Amino acid sequence: MYRRSFVKSALFGLGAGTMGRWIRPQSLLADNARGPLVVSSANGKPAAAKAVEIINQGHDALDAVIAGVNIVEDDPQDHSVGYGGLPNENGVVQLDSCCMHGPTHNAGAVAALQHIKNPSKVARLVMERSDHVLLTGTGALNFAKAHGFKEESLLTDEARQIWLYWKESLSDKDNWFTPRNKEDIPEKVRQMFNITGTITCLGLDIQGNISGVTTTSGLAFKLPGRVGDSPIIGAGLYVDNEVGACGSTGRGEENLKNLTCFLAVEEMRRGKTPQQACMIAVKRIVKHVKLPSLKKKNGRPNFNVKFYALDKKGRFGGAAIYGPARYVVHNGSENTFVDFAYLYEQE
Ligand code: ASP
Repeated sequence: MYRRSFVKSALFGLGAGTMGRWIRPQSLLADNARGPLVVSSANGKPAAAKAVEIINQGHDALDAVIAGVNIVEDDPQDHSVGYGGLPNENGVVQLDSCCMHGPTHNAGAVAALQHIKNPSKVARLVMERSDHVLLTGTGALNFAKAHGFKEESLLTDEARQIWLYWKESLSDKDNWFTPRNKEDIPEKVRQMFNITGTITCLGLDIQGNISGVTTTSGLAFKLPGRVGDSPIIGAGLYVDNEVGACGSTGRGEENLKNLTCFLAVEEMRRGKTPQQACMIAVKRIVKHVKLPSLKKKNGRPNFNVKFYALDKKGRFGGAAIYGPARYVVHNGSENTFVDFAYLYEQE
């Protein structure tokens, strides 16, 4: 009931920031909605709050969502993004990000970027201050430094301890030993062992324009140089200002093989709601899981992927392979968690 009324208020633009601009229900489907509307992954509540604040000042959705995710990139407690992100197998933090600007249909991205904690800002600069879309590794770092970014260590002590415990637990045939007493392993390290994540943030501004950003430290303990879906336009993010936007988190490899955010936006173009489009993306990934190494004994995928979307009409939705799970929606008055649609119950 609550969810339905929230959906309705987002759809009809009833948020505080949109008061006085009633959209008549009968004209809703013909008109483009105006924000603020921000959709983000579950770690994105502070990002959504910041993004709405900036949209309410009249700024472009891209300014808003990037300022939003910068908060999470700067947060050492979030081990899936930016500073404090979990490193690759060599203990080096390598970050991926992309952004897409609806009004210009322009995009920028960086992959395997080291030593710069806000890859989303660098991705935006690639978009605005170069003739390219994607820079990787040293090239991305040099570009960031040319724009005045300072190199810093991104590996926090806690992330290092999680990585070290992973390394020491890998094999009993190598020369690394875990502490003899399990009590010597900090509780947080044990809990965090299998954590991955990312933040994606999509925004509809008060001009009715749409932009998005995705930023991550990628899969924990990945091979050095591995690039996931997050910096790939069409995989980790896609925006079409006439239609809507989709962002994704979860196992990037499967998203890369399906370019599923692009698929979801195309489904919205064909008339699907954001929620339906996200579920089509989920089903496409699941349909293409052929390798036994990606399947559980019951034949279902042994990984999760989640999609987040909003459209030009001010609707939003999310779907995941496994649930229950939640994502964040801010409609200008409420910053709240919303349940994903999902295909399978998490066992
Ligand atoms: N999609 C990210 C990647 O594959 C990871 C995640 O969202 O958990 O790099």
